[in-house]
Amino acid sequence: MHRTVSGLNRRLIALLCAVAILAALSGGIACEQETSGDKLTVVTTIFPLADFVKNVAGDKVEVVTLLRSGDSPHTYEPSSRDMKAVARAKLLVINGAGLDFWAEKLKSAASDNLAVVDTSLVLEQEGLLLSGGEHEYDDESDDHSGVNPHFWLDPVLAQKQVESIASALVAVDPGNQDSYLDNADSYIGELKSLDEEIKNATQSFSSREFITFHASWTYFAKRYDLVEAAVIQEAPGKEPSVAYIKEVVDLAEALQVKAIFAEPQFNTQAAEAIADDSGAEVLLLDPLGGPSLEGRDSYIILMRYNVAQMEKAMG
Ligand SMILES: [Zn+2]
Repeated sequence: MHRTVSGLNRRLIALLCAVAILAALSGGIACEQETSGDKLTVVTTIFPLADFVKNVAGDKVEVVTLLRSGDSPHTYEPSSRDMKAVARAKLLVINGAGLDFWAEKLKSAASDNLAVVDTSLVLEQEGLLLSGGEHEYDDESDDHSGVNPHFWLDPVLAQKQVESIASALVAVDPGNQDSYLDNADSYIGELKSLDEEIKNATQSFSSREFITFHASWTYFAKRYDLVEAAVIQEAPGKEPSVAYIKEVVDLAEALQVKAIFAEPQFNTQAAEAIADDSGAEVLLLDPLGGPSLEGRDSYIILMRYNVAQMEKAMG
């Protein structure tokens, strides 16, 4: 009897210990979260910006990307999860020029000392922004209206975004200044090589015109002497009319394009209809990429993917 009770006691003690260990473990996890909370949190909107931050900051910061694979910044609605991410962030990195205007809404959740870097500002100051793209705005008084915000897809302008990010990181975390600046320098070196690589690849394209889903490739086209001959959606989310599709089909036939480019974040139906009618195929160009997309899981790898897609149609 005594033995049985003692056996039961042992089991009880074992069980209590297990609970205690679990509690200690979860306490430990909570502690770890607090320490990773000590690590500076940087929130970014689109994946390419997150990749820029990672290349500059290495493991010194925790990077949170608000958009997940498949999301388009043009149709994105911030969630309460995003509010929470911004609430614990020290730095918010936005592309700017209207692409991620909705990030403004998140600032209400932010602490007073949240630093915000808008990577379009330097480009605007230097007169490097192009018009077009007809991106939509919440606020009609937004003076970015009419500016095309897809400059990250030009690896030369992306270097300026990386510089803005490096300066912002130094401002919020001056203790790691040397590391941020060194990393930024070497990453900018990689982007310069990428630019050379794309220049070489695109120089030999046999056709220079292409038809794309929306005006995401305007800066890229300008950089590499290509022509974004038509866009299927004149404004993101605006479905093309039958008459407009007919116009694009005529153009595709006149230019003898081999492919119509669609984007993974949008419905490909319109591109398929145009491709069918003009005897072209549908290929994807991806302006955003994502950490879980094999072959598109860093900015540089993503750009190589896109150039390879163009090469299939224009090479
Ligand atoms: Zn866009």
